[in-house]
Parts: sequence; structure tokens; C-alpha cells
Amino acid sequence: MTQLALCHLWRAVGVNETKPELNNDEIARYSRHLIMPEVGMDGQLKLKSASVLCIGVGGLGSPVAMYLGAAGVGRIGIVDFDVVDYSNLQRQVIHGTPDVGRSKLDSARDRLNAINPEVTVETHDVALSSENALELLANYDVIVDGTDNFPTRYLVNDACVILGKPNVYGSIFRFEGQASVFATKDGPCYRCLYPEPPPPGLVPSCAEGGVLGILPGVIGTIQATEAVKLIIGVGEPLVNRFMIYDALRMKFRELKLRKDPECPVCGETPTVTELIDYEQFCGITGTVTDNVSLEALDTTVKDLKTRIDGKDEVLVLDVREPQEFQICRIPGSTLIPLNDLPQRLAELEGYKDMVVHCKSGVRSAKAVKLLHEAGFSNAKNLRGGILAWIDEIDPSLPKY
Ligand code: ZN
Repeated sequence: MTQLALCHLWRAVGVNETKPELNNDEIARYSRHLIMPEVGMDGQLKLKSASVLCIGVGGLGSPVAMYLGAAGVGRIGIVDFDVVDYSNLQRQVIHGTPDVGRSKLDSARDRLNAINPEVTVETHDVALSSENALELLANYDVIVDGTDNFPTRYLVNDACVILGKPNVYGSIFRFEGQASVFATKDGPCYRCLYPEPPPPGLVPSCAEGGVLGILPGVIGTIQATEAVKLIIGVGEPLVNRFMIYDALRMKFRELKLRKDPECPVCGETPTVTELIDYEQFCGITGTVTDNVSLEALDTTVKDLKTRIDGKDEVLVLDVREPQEFQICRIPGSTLIPLNDLPQRLAELEGYKDMVVHCKSGVRSAKAVKLLHEAGFSNAKNLRGGILAWIDEIDPSLPKY
């Protein structure tokens, strides 16, 4: 008996009324799945009963949510608190040009409803945090991590291990992507591979270093594939394996991974048994050497503008990359990219006052920390970076 006929038989005899069924529209919609032995009616019903939470609906979250929606995953949750920006459109294909300025959640929900109205879309307008992560993730079968920062990546990893939920991981940078499946029952977690985050500033984010717009399409599609395989229970999941994709050479490599018995979160004697402060863990907040908090060293763009107009002797130090400096700059600023700063400190001797800025304030906070450790106790961080300068002082400059 074919799967289809079996379905009609179930319906005809009313077998197991609580079990989800497919209506005729759904049968037509999913027909290319239904005729595959690996999926079939059973697999499609598993997809319909399943729920997946996408952390972030940006570059990776776009293909993940769209393909899972099209594939018929019954309940898709999306967590995001951002607004669609022009600079997103090069890769975040769930959003369109008319969506610029809208919330990413609204834009993504509309797109998913258009792709497949049979799917329930749940939007969570929050920044994922230690306070809300466990409660939020607990409601879903599979978690897909589409974040681009270390605090959230470690937070998602630890929450998945604590809850026993599979974490479908992906990350992207320039021309290189990575994917794996973490935190399954017997498989490793992200911390088995990277117990500690890299020092702040060592690994730039996509906002800082750029990313090929197509790259999240490749990696996100791998994540969506793995999520579907986990739900249906077919094939070999990307567990104990770490996939590296090099788009420039068009090569896939695979590293073998092993669960680390010493892992601080999924090991035999874990030291992390609840969620922690991940900003602090990743060295993004904290104190400089003289016990002054980093936040206390912030200054605002309005304050900087007043000082420049008043001809104050203040060095405006730009720690972005030369390519970014070419796009826009604060008049009179000096460029020393963050990575070059340790070797070029001598150039800063003699400046009484220094305001450090980058694009949005993260790299410059790292630079201010570094400068204070090197004895430049006068360095301040421009809150919001050049983006805040453009918003509040000079909207004629291009944003990127
Ligand atoms: Zn682990």
C-alpha cells in the first residue's frame, strides 16, 4: 500500500485522531517529499509535529526559516529584536527592499506565511539572555543557531546542553563557513571544541570583517538540512563532525570531533551547570586595569562634536579597517586598525585626550581596554561608533 493510500485509510477509519494528518492541499504541497522512501508520509507528519527555534533571522536564519517553512515544519519560532537595514539585504534574503525599517520578525513572518500558510510562525521580540534562554528554548525540539557573536553562541550552546536539545550550529565569515550539530545525547558540544571564547578583538564579526552574501545561503541550507534529518531521523547527522566550507577554493573539509570528558558544560564533571554572564565570559564587558568599568569610559557623539567645534585638543582615533575608513570618516580622525594598535602605541604618545571609535562601539571598547592597560588613562570610547555619529551629527555620510 502506498503512503498516500495509507493516509487515506487512516482518515477513513479515523485512526488516532490526535495524530496530525495532511489535508489534500498539504499532500499536493509536499508530494516530492511524500514519494521519497526516506521521508514519506511518516516523515512528513514528523515534520508537521515538529518545532524548530531559529536564533536570529539574519544571514543564516533567512534560508533556515524559509526552507524549514517550505518543508512543512509545523511550528517555527524566530528570535530577533533587530530592524531590517539596507546593509542586510545583500545576504538576508528573507527580507526585501520594502521591508527596510520594519522589524525583522514582522518581515520574516510575512515571508514565511507567504511561502507556507500551513506553518505556525512564533515571533519572540527579545534579545536572548541568560534570563530568558532556558524558558524559550525549552518549547522547541531543535535549536538552530544563526547568531554572529560569541556571547550568544556560548549562551545557546550551554542552554542546549542543559535542556538536552540539539543545537544546529553554523557560522560565517568572509568566504568561509562552518557547520556542525552539537549537544545531541552522545555528541560533543561547542565547548568540547572551544572551551573558552577567543580574546576580544581576535576574531572580527561579519559586521567588522565582511561576508560574501551567498555564504550564509550555503551554510544556512546545511543547517536546515540537518534540522530536517534530525526531525525525520534519517541519514547521518553532522554529529561528531565539523564541516568547513571554503567558498574561494570551493572545497568542503570535515574535522572529526569527539565529546570531551573534561568539557566544562557537557563533560563528566561539568563546572557550568547554569547559564552565566556571557558578555563578561567573552570579555566584552568588564573593567580596565584601574578597576574603572568600561561603561564609565564612554563618551557620546554630541559631546565629541562640542569638543571638536570648541577646538579642544582631542585625538579622534578610528580603529576600523582601511576599507571602512574609505567609506566614511569623522573629520580629522586618525586611522589605526585595532589589530595594528599594539604595535603602534608610540604614535599616540603625547596626546592628552583621546576618543576612540569604530563602526558601532565594540572594537573601540576593546581598544580602550587595551589603551588603558598600556597606560593611556585618557582614552574614551565613542558610544555607538560612527553609526551614532551619522545618525545624530552628520546624516549626509553613507552608512554601511
Ligand atoms: Zn561539551
